[in-house]
Amino acid sequence: METMRLYNGIEIPAIGYGTWQSPDSEVTVNGVKTAVASGYRHIDAAAVYGNEVSVGKGIAGCGVPREELFITSKVWNTERGYDATLAAFEKTIKDLGCGYLDLYLIHWPASAHMYADWEQINLDTWRAMTELYKAGKIKAIGVSNFKPHHLEALMKTEVKPMVDQIEFHPGLLQEKTAAYCRENNILVEGWSPLGTGRMLDNEVLKDIALRSGKSVAQVCIRWCIQHDILPLPKSVTPSRIKENLQVFDFELNAADMEKIDLLNNFGGSGLDPDQVDF
Ligand code: NDP
Repeated sequence: METMRLYNGIEIPAIGYGTWQSPDSEVTVNGVKTAVASGYRHIDAAAVYGNEVSVGKGIAGCGVPREELFITSKVWNTERGYDATLAAFEKTIKDLGCGYLDLYLIHWPASAHMYADWEQINLDTWRAMTELYKAGKIKAIGVSNFKPHHLEALMKTEVKPMVDQIEFHPGLLQEKTAAYCRENNILVEGWSPLGTGRMLDNEVLKDIALRSGKSVAQVCIRWCIQHDILPLPKSVTPSRIKENLQVFDFELNAADMEKIDLLNNFGGSGLDPDQVDF
């Protein structure tokens, strides 16, 4: 597995295994085990997915030592603030049974449309994350779904975010946020790299996949990587779990990259952090 590097020197495997909408059951235990057996070393979890116990069982039974895995989780919106974040972290590492986290993210920013003191709420959450990081309980800290105006206050703190995990797939380039992160040494991770499946029937992508001898899913994942965005494909289907890793043996040429870039404005989830009601 190739890796990308965070500004604090931590290496992060270049594709992560997504776990949103994976059930809290043997399906997910087996999904995680299949992923690790297929070569994934990076697992993207979150408390709100309601399946961290099953993800943890998969990790415990995967046969690869904990220190060879890169495990991410996220603090949910109801646990924002200093004390609640510290407690949420303890619950997550207990559920995952993993001792420490490689990466912990603020799942969504508190935003002005819901909170007058949104910036302070994010700073209080960040103070807890920073403390956990300095205590060595988390190897890297970051955010998710933050736009530049949400990031600005955090960029003035002692430890700046290392990652921003945002929706990123053909049809949704999030150029302003991606550029801001590039300029500030923040690695961007792409959630829903297949648009939760919405990319798969697109004719432009199908044509490129056919000519590349690859699947549409592999084209989407490869396109993220060539944009230096770390993709997090999710599947509980063994053949797809493996397929989604086989993207390091081909390259999209500049013309095809541009064709995909020009698909901008389709297939997005519509979840705007400045408008969501959660
Ligand atoms: P993806 O964009 O990865 O799409 C997953 C869907 O596509 C599933 O229905 C899966 O089916 C199917 N699929 C996967 N691989 C293939 C393939 N090769 N061929 C055909 N179909 C395929 O999904 P998500 O929206 O789940 O996003 C990925 C991850 O990003 C999440 O799991 C989560 O970890 C993260 N995320 C983070 C968010 C955030 O706010 N930070 C928000 C949303 C997601 P099946 O499983 O049945 O095989």
